[in-house]
Amino acid sequence: MVSQWARELHFSSIVVDTHSDSLVWTLDEGEDLADDLAHRQLTLPRMRAGGVTAQFMAAWVDPGRLGPETYVRRTLDFIDAMHRTCAAHPDQIELAHTAADVRRLKAEGKLAAILCIEGGHSIDDDLAVLRMYHRLGVRYMTLTWNNTNNWADGILDEARHGGLSDLGRAVVREMDRLGVIVDVSHASVETFWDALETGSKPVMASHSSCTQLCAHLRNLNDDQLRAIANNGGVACVTYVPQFVSEGLRLQLEELGVTGTEGEATFRQVSGELVLPAYTEIVDHVEHMINVAGIDHVGLGSDFGVLLAAPVGMEDCSRVPWVTEELVRRGYSDDDIRKVLGENVLRVMEAVIGE
Ligand SMILES: [Zn+2]
Repeated sequence: MVSQWARELHFSSIVVDTHSDSLVWTLDEGEDLADDLAHRQLTLPRMRAGGVTAQFMAAWVDPGRLGPETYVRRTLDFIDAMHRTCAAHPDQIELAHTAADVRRLKAEGKLAAILCIEGGHSIDDDLAVLRMYHRLGVRYMTLTWNNTNNWADGILDEARHGGLSDLGRAVVREMDRLGVIVDVSHASVETFWDALETGSKPVMASHSSCTQLCAHLRNLNDDQLRAIANNGGVACVTYVPQFVSEGLRLQLEELGVTGTEGEATFRQVSGELVLPAYTEIVDHVEHMINVAGIDHVGLGSDFGVLLAAPVGMEDCSRVPWVTEELVRRGYSDDDIRKVLGENVLRVMEAVIGE
């Protein structure tokens, strides 16, 4: 049981989750997020049960499966899926454009959805497309997914630009100008440093954990965490089990599973894998707090398409257990509220405006 103290703290707080790929089920399977589907990690009923105030919902176009000619269309399909969901359930969920929207929706007892793009290839190398995505509600974009695109190197692909190209730097400047948060999750280390050097606004790492605790390439090392703190940004711990547990990462490496969120092999061997406990997620939160400071840490579950989740954190209804564990470790109410959502809202205010 989550203690009464932690429950009251959690459900009175703004809880922001900075990454989910759940829209893919609406788009490709015709599912409705408002239905309480037992096999899904994130639904509207589960968000309510987990006290999630605001959810960043990603448009992710798989560059391994789809060609460049589909990138814009498929991104728009994702955005449309979110708009349709909000239109179908105006009493339950609304699209939020600003931190103030999130606070208003919390007060009204509604869920907030915030659109985001996972992978800079979605803009098809065109700043005009980026500007139109912003108009449709997109509030962050990861500069890359795992792939290297035409202007930025991704973390699990060949480096072609040594970080950001000239166009890549122009993209970052235009994002800052528009108020689209520069998200450095999935970026190569060189892209990360180029983005911080080029940009003038706080950045976000929407779903990455700590290299110091788990050496997966998708995680952030301590120098990166300190740089995000100096930049005024926020790093959001992700629950992807092989980014949380070094033991699991090594086990998968031995089995030859080197990808990230979705691998057929992972599915085949999942019975034999040793999954981390949800408290190990909080180990990453604590490490980030120790390195970057309490003002620069958030939560970015990646619920939606995970093939496995940490034990005790199977879906978003379990998020109060993070609060419970932070209370147990002695953090103050104010500090816990920062991690749960206030830090992300601060970055939204700084980049997007009021
Ligand atoms: Zn991702």
